[in-house]
Amino acid sequence: MSAKDFLQKLSEAHGVSGYEHAIRDLVIEEFRPYADEIHITPMGSVIALKRGARDRAKTPAPKVLIEGHMDEIGLMVTEIDHGYLRFTQVGGFDVRVLLAQEVIVHGKRPLRGIIGARPPHLLTPAERDKVIPMRDLWIDVGLPEARVRELVQVGDAITLARSMVSLKSDFVAGKAFDDRCAIVCLAEALRHLTTMKHTWDVYAVANVQEEAGAWFGGAFTSTYTINPDMALALDVSHADQPNTSEVNAVPLGSGMGIATGPNIHPLVHQKLVQVAKASEIPHKITAYAGPTGTDAWAIQVVREGIPTGLIDIPLRYMHTSVETLCVTDLERIGRLLALVCSSLDDEFLKQLRGETNAAPPKTRRVTRRQPKNPKRK
Ligand SMILES: [Zn+2]
Repeated sequence: MSAKDFLQKLSEAHGVSGYEHAIRDLVIEEFRPYADEIHITPMGSVIALKRGARDRAKTPAPKVLIEGHMDEIGLMVTEIDHGYLRFTQVGGFDVRVLLAQEVIVHGKRPLRGIIGARPPHLLTPAERDKVIPMRDLWIDVGLPEARVRELVQVGDAITLARSMVSLKSDFVAGKAFDDRCAIVCLAEALRHLTTMKHTWDVYAVANVQEEAGAWFGGAFTSTYTINPDMALALDVSHADQPNTSEVNAVPLGSGMGIATGPNIHPLVHQKLVQVAKASEIPHKITAYAGPTGTDAWAIQVVREGIPTGLIDIPLRYMHTSVETLCVTDLERIGRLLALVCSSLDDEFLKQLRGETNAAPPKTRRVTRRQPKNPKRK
């Protein structure tokens, strides 16, 4: 499937953190032709293994993990109030854009609904100037209270109903691109790898539960299971847009960010940049002085520590229903991932393990605390 078609399929499907089963089926269907094995972790992450070509009797294959998260931010029913649904959020929605959205309530059967609030005519001038807090919004599915109570219960998940829109310049807009666009990059990488030689085993992982609070349950557990020698996380980052002065902004259509900072292993960063330069794949270096607020943060501290890199996928309007990206960027990232995986050799493994005379990476201490100002979740 083309990158754009797969992105549309993933974006228009529904799977809030902890309820990713529908997405998981789509990911497995897309990964299966390229993978030697597919495994689902008890938490629900998908691990696709593509074995490297090497004499396993002599040495076991080193492992590289490439990953993104497949869950999405969403809402959850907290109360049935005279047939209207009150709700809270799973992950950090942009509350400013919730009013007037179409939603799907995942009750006994999916129910279409809309998010309503009191009309402007009934508000005081002061109320009109403010963002409507979530407690003053409700979901209306159009059914009488008794019927709502039969079909919906507290704790049911709610997702936005939104079709992907094609803009000019290969740009598209839709929901849940964070971080399903990374899954598209993984599929692209697996497809490229079928025509490339690689000696390391490649584990492409679609992780669960990144958005539900900063605990990265999917990334921690699948990385522990795989125990990779190196990992590459993919997550969205703020692209260029008006009225922002984000230093790490990568313009849409100009490739990707290759992250550096204490969350990133210097040799892994170097490897990504070297391969990107050698293959003339456009990129920008992005610098994070602390934890990156992505799965890379979790992966880096699994077991004794995993040498980890991070690719920033440029995205506008994060955590809204119109997240916008450039499909060409995803294709470039997929290609870079494949090229990096196929470039990995025994010499690089020795470097990662500090077994060569090459300059060792600088020692850094990693602290695991909440970022003061997380860039993303
Ligand atoms: Zn997010």
